[in-house]
Amino acid sequence: MNAKTACSSITPQPIRFEKSKDQSGNLPVVVIGAGPIGLAAAAQLALANEPFLVLEGGQMVGHHVLQWGHVRLFSPWQYNIDKAAGELLERSGWQAPMGEELPTGAELVENYLTKLATVPEIEPFLRLNTRVVGISRKHQDKMKTANRENQPFVLYVETLGKQIERIEAKTIIDATGTWGQPNPLHADGVWTRSERDLQPHIFYGIPDIQGHDRERFAGKHVAVIGSGHSAINTLLDLAELGGNEPNGKITWILRKPKIEDVYGGEADDALEARGALGLRIHELVDSGRVEIYTPFRVENVFENGQTLTLEGEWKGENYSIEELDEVIVNTGSRPDLSFLREVRLDIDSATESIKALAPLIDPNIHSCGTVRPHGEKELRQPEKNFYIVGMKSYGRAPTFLMATGYEQVRSIVAYLTGDVEAAEKVELDLPETGVCSSGISKSGNQAITISGAGCC
Ligand SMILES: Cc1cc2nc3c(=O)[nH]c(=O)nc-3n(C[C@H](O)[C@H](O)[C@H](O)COP(=O)(O)OP(=O)(O)OC[C@H]3O[C@@H](n4cnc5c(N)ncnc54)[C@H](O)[C@@H]3O)c2cc1C
Repeated sequence: MNAKTACSSITPQPIRFEKSKDQSGNLPVVVIGAGPIGLAAAAQLALANEPFLVLEGGQMVGHHVLQWGHVRLFSPWQYNIDKAAGELLERSGWQAPMGEELPTGAELVENYLTKLATVPEIEPFLRLNTRVVGISRKHQDKMKTANRENQPFVLYVETLGKQIERIEAKTIIDATGTWGQPNPLHADGVWTRSERDLQPHIFYGIPDIQGHDRERFAGKHVAVIGSGHSAINTLLDLAELGGNEPNGKITWILRKPKIEDVYGGEADDALEARGALGLRIHELVDSGRVEIYTPFRVENVFENGQTLTLEGEWKGENYSIEELDEVIVNTGSRPDLSFLREVRLDIDSATESIKALAPLIDPNIHSCGTVRPHGEKELRQPEKNFYIVGMKSYGRAPTFLMATGYEQVRSIVAYLTGDVEAAEKVELDLPETGVCSSGISKSGNQAITISGAGCC
């Protein structure tokens, strides 16, 4: 069979090309991702009268947030709404939710993000089901330097019909988050084929155990791997389910040296809801209803008949945890840098965050969510007019708060529209983000409350 006959039935699909210039011939600022931070960037751009386009890979705004929509946030409404977004929404007659209430992820999308996406200043410039798969400078790969900064960006996007389109931009704000790229269960952080093959029994993220995922976990032996807020939420839901389904068993697998390290500030936490999580998990552990392996390092997962086995190192010895019906992995997530291959970036080699942020957020050093205010200057990349913001700017570090991202995009838009003074004056109006336990064990009763930039 020659090449000609092999290909004769395939019609080559032309790549659509969109310049997206406005009436005065300006290319837009392209914001990638319509999560809380991408939409806040759009609101800032709209208020500044700067042409923009938002490209969202999912079929709805808040696509990632909806995947944990049943989970209640720990920061109240007053910290979850961007100022520029609030201004646009109020123009449309929106009633702001009660400041002190804690929304679920689904409520954040329904009562805020969806409403923001439909204001007349944003809706015409938002494209859903449009996934960015590559970015470059027009007609220049990463190696080429001459005249680089004067060339527009070109984004390759995949739409629903899997058609590839090229869109030109003068500036890019990447707000694609990290939720879509979970870390694997292996303690070494490496993805293996066997883990991928077992995905029908491995769940990444926070299942809706009280809702549509109930059947999957009811009455089963479930292992939860991880020690952050996601793992704690998952364990508390499983424990509640266990009350109604007594045959279920919960196993908790952590890399941390001691279980006490996960409790955080408890009653001393400045974010009350976050402290309450610590208190509740402490109580659950004390009740003896969870079998705990700590420190356990997972090295392998395989199927053994109908169940899964996790092999690894427990307290320095080889050990197997057997007869698991389901495994829930809450080991964090990582940024997708694959579509940025042709962009010149300065990424920290450990955290995969923006280089300048790494010393502030490295979880090896800090366990708190507080960073000193930062904006355009810290987020600047070697590739001029290209920014990574939001959750993705923190790379693999889990301590990002929406309020931090809102200030990031406010500063960037001020800079892009020529207001350098406003761009440099970054002020983070954060809650006192509470307790930083960096290296200090709670068992020693020495957790310290921090405010503002104190800890980091
Ligand atoms: C369970 C949980 C609870 C949290 N609670 C709080 C809290 O109480 N308070 C707080 O301040 N923060 C909280 N956070 C942290 C953080 O504020 C949220 O994760 C927030 O959603 C981050 O917003 P983002 O816009 O940066 O990214 P995301 O919300 O992840 O949005 C990214 C968007 O980009 C889209 N996208 C991804 N890749 C592409 C692509 N290639 N092309 C086009 N679109 C793409 C996605 O579909 C998504 O819609 C929580 C996080 C989690 C996971």
